[in-house]
Amino acid sequence: MGYGLTVGEICFIQKDYLLDGEIIFSKEEEVKIEDLDPDPRAPGRKYVVRSKTSGSRFRLSGHDLKRRYCPECGALLTISNKCPGCTWVIVGNLSQRRSGPGPPRINGGGIL
Ligand SMILES: [Zn+2]
Repeated sequence: MGYGLTVGEICFIQKDYLLDGEIIFSKEEEVKIEDLDPDPRAPGRKYVVRSKTSGSRFRLSGHDLKRRYCPECGALLTISNKCPGCTWVIVGNLSQRRSGPGPPRINGGGIL
């Protein structure tokens, strides 16, 4: 393991998320992991982030987020998922490390 996201890390949003027609997260937006709190109905959805537009907190899965900075040296990560500053590399996809299948992901993640 070792590449799970931790509280305080800055991530990218992978794609636009809508809730009732309003954009709550937009692609490439930066968000900070505020807490780890698995959704009982979908344990993979455990990263708590706050929407800048609605002010509410949402649970997203690792699949919804992309790491922004190298956890080893803090350098800005590039599209290639390789750190330019050290030998750190993202192995695989965050979404493949979910424990067990969850229910289908609803559009917009889970509201707390
Ligand atoms: Zn690095």
